[in-house]
Parts: sequence; C-alpha cells; structure tokens
Amino acid sequence: VNTSLRRSEATLRAIHDIIADSELKFEDKLNRLLLEGCRFFEMEVSAVANIAGQNSDFICRTGTVAMDNLSGLADRLGREIATTHQPVAISNLENYCFRSGVQPTEGFTGSAMATDYQVDDATAGYILFASTRPASRILTDVDIDILQLMAQWLGGEIERNEINQRAQEHQAQLAHVSRLNTMGEMATGIAHELNQPLTAILNYSAGSLRLLQKRGNEDGELQAAIVNIGNDARRAAGIIKNLREFMKRGEHKHERFELRKSIESALELLRPRLIQSEIDVRFSCTEDVADIVADRVQIEQVLVNLLVNAIDAVRTINDKARTIDIDVTRSESGNVAVAVSDNGHGLPDNVIEHLFDPFFTTKSEGMGMGLSISRTIVESHGGTIEYLINEMQQPSFRFTLPVT
Ligand code: ADP
Repeated sequence: VNTSLRRSEATLRAIHDIIADSELKFEDKLNRLLLEGCRFFEMEVSAVANIAGQNSDFICRTGTVAMDNLSGLADRLGREIATTHQPVAISNLENYCFRSGVQPTEGFTGSAMATDYQVDDATAGYILFASTRPASRILTDVDIDILQLMAQWLGGEIERNEINQRAQEHQAQLAHVSRLNTMGEMATGIAHELNQPLTAILNYSAGSLRLLQKRGNEDGELQAAIVNIGNDARRAAGIIKNLREFMKRGEHKHERFELRKSIESALELLRPRLIQSEIDVRFSCTEDVADIVADRVQIEQVLVNLLVNAIDAVRTINDKARTIDIDVTRSESGNVAVAVSDNGHGLPDNVIEHLFDPFFTTKSEGMGMGLSISRTIVESHGGTIEYLINEMQQPSFRFTLPVT
C-alpha cells in the first residue's frame, strides 16, 4: 500500500507540475500528461479524441504500439463512455470483449482505461490509455481518480481556450466594424463635400453653353466639349448619390446582450492604453439595467470611441490622478443611459458646437470621425448622445438607448 501511495503521490505531483508550468503550451502539457499517464498506468499507448459522429477524431496520441488496432477499440470504448459517462478500467480486454459480446480486435488482447471529458457540461471526447498486454497490476480507484483528474483539466482547458477564442473573434469583429464604419462615414462626408463643387460645375457648364449660343458662337467642337463637362459632372453626382444611399442603408444586427459585458469588452480592448497612461477606471451600473437589445458590436464601438477620447483627454494630466468614470443608469424616461466622464479639462465653447461634425478634430493625429460615427450609431438605435458637465463638474458624454 505504501509503495503504491508513494507512486501515486509522485504522479500527482508530476501532473501538478505539468499543469502549473506557465511556459508550456497546451499541446505540450497534454502530451506530457499522456506520457505521465502511460508511465503510471503501465500502458504503451494513449490518445485523446473528440467524439464526432461515429468515428473518433484524435487530437493527440502518444506511443507507437498497435495504433491500427487502437482505432477500433477507441471507437468502441468512446461510444460506450459517451452514453454511460462512466470511466472504464479493463485489465483484460479479451474478457471484456467476451463479456460485452464484442468481436475482439485481432492481436489486441491487452488492457485499457478510458474516461470522457466534458466541455460546457457535455461530453466532448475521451482520454484513452491502452496496452497490448493485460494489465501487470490491478487497476484501482486511484488509477481512475488520476485519469479523471486529467480529464477534468483537459475539459477545463478546452473550455477556456474556446472562451478566449470567442473573445478574440469578438474583438477582431469590433475592430473590423470600426474600420468599416469609419470608411462609410468618411465616404458620406466626402460625398457631401463633393456635391457642392459638382453642382457648381454643372451650373457653369450649362451657363457657358447658354452664353455661347447667345453670342452666336458656332464652334461645334467647343459646344460638344462643354456638353461633355456637364454630362460627366452629372454622372459623378449620380455616383455620389448612390454611394450616400448605400451608406445610409446600414443594417443592424439586433441581439439581446448584457450592457455590462459590452463595457467590459471595450475596456479589455483598451486595457494596454489605460495601463500605459496609468488611468483609473471606475465603473458603476445600477442593478436594474441588465440586458438591452441592440447591435452589440456597434454599441461597443461607441463605447470604445468615447473611452479613447476620455483617455486622450486625461493622459496628459500631471497634477492629479487620472480617472475615467463609466456610469450606467436608467434615465427618467426608462431608457438606459451610459455616461463616460473624465477629469480632463473639458471643451471650450467654440469646440462644443462642432463636436459631432465629421472630420472635426483638435488633435494633430485625429481623424475627427469618432463622435460623428457614435452619433450615427446611437441615433439609428433610437437614442441620443450629448456632451454635458456632470454633477461632479466633470466633462461627460452621455448616450441613451431604448431598452427594447
Ligand atoms: P478625434 O478623436 O479623432 O479628434 P472625435 O470625433 O472622437 O475625433 O472627437 C472630436 C473632438 O472632440 C476631439 O478632437 C476633441 O477636441 C473633442 N473631444 C472629444 N471627447 C473629448 C473629451 N472627453 N474631452 C475633451 N475633448 C474631447
């Protein structure tokens, strides 16, 4: 008993060291765990498989012995475990085959251990250890415990990886939509600016034609050239009109989500900047504001825009601690109100009136699109956005969103 206790203790320590090693990648950890298992269970082969349809989809394997035979056995055990959710320890596969009425796989008369691992509370796959020889010692509860420990770690790790991956995809999507919206808004701005000179060109060309005719100028070539100028200007105006209409047609992807999570997601994206500029963010959310129905990525973009501006406003402050406050409350009319306030210097009056204009910026590297895009997004959701000085005498941007 003492010897076996010592062995299992050493194995548990080895498993702990592998899991806790922050230098190792997931694949390396898994590989080492499987090798440690092979050593402890005294088996030559091991495998981790996804349960996908009828056949096992191996994601990791160690050992070279009897791999061809392993597949058949693994499929069979995998299916069994997926239905019973019970770990199995088979000291003699021949006996097992005989008992369960399975045709023994030729040449595979050894032993095996297997258990399932769970991701999001459902069986996702299994871990298997097997040997071509019958077990050289009796497989006990301690073996099962160690096997299940590995399975628990594996399931947890896959779950964490999936959550991380989803978060990364979400952030990439946010960045992508940000770029798209900036481009769209810029195109709308440019279209607006270009419309005026194009209308002027049209008018001048029509006027020139009239003048030529009035003065009895018969120069056909000149007249044709002026008609062409007018036609091309009209064509350009048409292209721009189409472009503006196309931009206006922005579709929303409405979904129900927790506003609190979105704020956390925006803060996560900006964390490096907040840390670098040593900015303290305080976040408060009234209890009764839980879910809202809106285009989540777009709302996060508004939050990112306001936070980036707040960061820019406080990062040069040197005479006091730099702070940003995010307050989520319910407005008088029952809408959700989000305020992003900072302890920067605020805005001079001559800036306030242009704040939401496209291309308006006071920053040397600014594009002047953030607030204009934010307003488009908030208003297209039926909300409002404004600049105000809050009760703490802080500059604050506040937007509201209808709850449904
Ligand atoms: P950009 O940040 O590229 O300049 P924005 O549309 O986001 O474009 O902002 C427009 C202008 O509004 C900024 O250049 C800045 O002058 C002003 N502004 C926005 N937010 C703040 C704030 N929190 N504090 C002071 N000024 C601000």
